[in-house]
Amino acid sequence: MQQPGRTVSPTPRDATARHQQDEKDQLIAVYPGSFDPVHRGHIDIAKRAARLVDVLIIAVYSKPSKNLLFSAEERVRLWHDVIESEGLTNVRVERFDGLVVEFARTVGAKAIVRGLRAVTDFELEFQQALMNRKQAPEIETLMIITALSYLFVSATLLKEVAKLGGDLDGIVTPNVARALHEKFAEERARE
Ligand code: ADP
Repeated sequence: MQQPGRTVSPTPRDATARHQQDEKDQLIAVYPGSFDPVHRGHIDIAKRAARLVDVLIIAVYSKPSKNLLFSAEERVRLWHDVIESEGLTNVRVERFDGLVVEFARTVGAKAIVRGLRAVTDFELEFQQALMNRKQAPEIETLMIITALSYLFVSATLLKEVAKLGGDLDGIVTPNVARALHEKFAEERARE
């Protein structure tokens, strides 16, 4: 029994239970994509989402059905650098394959974040969101609209610009600009 005037320090078991409770109460969201490479449009969406949730997990597709310039490890590393340089303290990055909803369930996420640029994005995202709801009705899709300055930014377009030696200032972070430059220099050396 507790003596009057004496405080009892929590046992390790109390601490574990509290930690589990904290995790359970956290609002976790997943932001999936191929991010080949991460650009300022993606970062804008991640920052907006990170203000709404407790933890945002950037989920980098390991095996998307597109031809990608960067490997999964490289895409994860570029996000790591961005998270650090932008000071995004409640954002972390993980790679995954398989269904997004399965990954979201595994990490205990209640929401999937997607970014919208234009009406053209909407149609596809809408279909995808409804399909995800069919698979996992307990998980919501949050569609976040990009800042006007990133409306025209796409990974496909910026890679073309980078390949031709164009200016990507304001479109990607310096670490990504460097990575693109090195990648295309390697490609040219192989040709
Ligand atoms: P995926 O490979 O899943 O089609 P991306 O890796 O290109 O998508 O992008 C991941 C997410 O970021 C998607 O929700 C996409 O709509 C969004 N996104 C891409 N470019 C921008 C941008 N310029 N502004 C806001 N959101 C964007």
